[in-house]
Amino acid sequence: PSFFGGVTYTPPDAIFELTKTYNADPDIRKVNLGQGTYKDENGNPWILPAVQAAKEKIKEANHEYLPILGLGSFRTLATELVFGKASSAVQERRVASCQALSGTGALHVAGKMLYKALGRKTTVYITKPSWSNHRQVFESVGFPVQEFVYSSDSTNGVDMSSFLKTLKDAAPKSILVLHASAHNPTGWDPTPEQWKAIGVVVKERQLFPLFDAAYLGMTSGDYDKDAFAIRYFVEELSLEVGVCLSFAKSMGLYGERVGLCAFVSQTSTATEAVESALAQLIRVEISNPPAFGARIVAAVLADEEIRAEWARNLVTMSSRIAEMRWQLYEGLNQLGTPGDWKRITEQKGMFCILGLTPDQVLHLQKEHHIYMAESSRVSIAGLNWSNVKYVADCIDTTIR
Ligand code: PLP
Repeated sequence: PSFFGGVTYTPPDAIFELTKTYNADPDIRKVNLGQGTYKDENGNPWILPAVQAAKEKIKEANHEYLPILGLGSFRTLATELVFGKASSAVQERRVASCQALSGTGALHVAGKMLYKALGRKTTVYITKPSWSNHRQVFESVGFPVQEFVYSSDSTNGVDMSSFLKTLKDAAPKSILVLHASAHNPTGWDPTPEQWKAIGVVVKERQLFPLFDAAYLGMTSGDYDKDAFAIRYFVEELSLEVGVCLSFAKSMGLYGERVGLCAFVSQTSTATEAVESALAQLIRVEISNPPAFGARIVAAVLADEEIRAEWARNLVTMSSRIAEMRWQLYEGLNQLGTPGDWKRITEQKGMFCILGLTPDQVLHLQKEHHIYMAESSRVSIAGLNWSNVKYVADCIDTTIR
């Protein structure tokens, strides 16, 4: 008998599987609205000019190991980027950090760290719906995961009463996973006022906020603006927080797997302890992180000119997405397609849920070669001037 007899088959990840099917589709009309990766006007991956310039700068780098916690300059610059250089947490050395394998790796390390700190009985709250990986990342660490209703059609945005009720009912020390900006998959973010209300209850109830920050800078095109919630919690509410930062989307470094896991503590002594624990977690898991992506990010952030170029690149990406939101809305509006489409333009970030049935989603794929998640979540970044009208027409005929 096999040693593996007890291993049951695990179905493949739906979104990666969708990309595979899309790639294999020979039809020239095909459109991929599945995976949330930015595409340029011609539907191609975009190497950011800022990243191109940074790569020129680092081409002489050697191939030695990085330190266990990652590239020092990367950690410093990325920490200042998220919290702001003037942040009291940064100034008072109250941020523990380590380089991580992009956003996903950062979430995993954060989960491990919080497991050490808070124990296995701690509930992790995630939004319903949320990014498809959240539940399994935190369950794999050993935490019970609970969902709470995040948004609804009737509120046309964040369902604050459900949100606040969940926080009020949660046991102290529970972990709350928050999407720092560009909520995936709904595209609804709390307004600054709503963030403040959430923060106050988080503090009152002594919950631990863990920010998943995969879309900072990509959301509005302004990094500082997108980091509002994190900074408000840290600076105004003096909360301890965790941040899982990804550079996949904001620098287009999907395959480089570069991210940061950061924890703000009340004291520099606690910070030192947290950082030492992070080092052990990294040592056990990967010994030390990959160098290439971290060098690119550090080179972008350290050079004034390249950094300014990156700021422009963020605007290019976020405004192209915003434009495509308008074009899709306009297309459906002009066709008089039944449904409420205005929200496409009101939502933020790459994603939006169209509200189609699984049958309609399948019909769009089979008949029109338009690919999207089964939930009818679409990645707006897959739209461009050449395909947006086609997509609107096909959605229209599918719904009628
Ligand atoms: N968190 C959210 C909400 C995401 O949408 C993603 C990617 O799609 C990630 C985290 C992590 O991405 P990565 O591991 O590629 O940085």
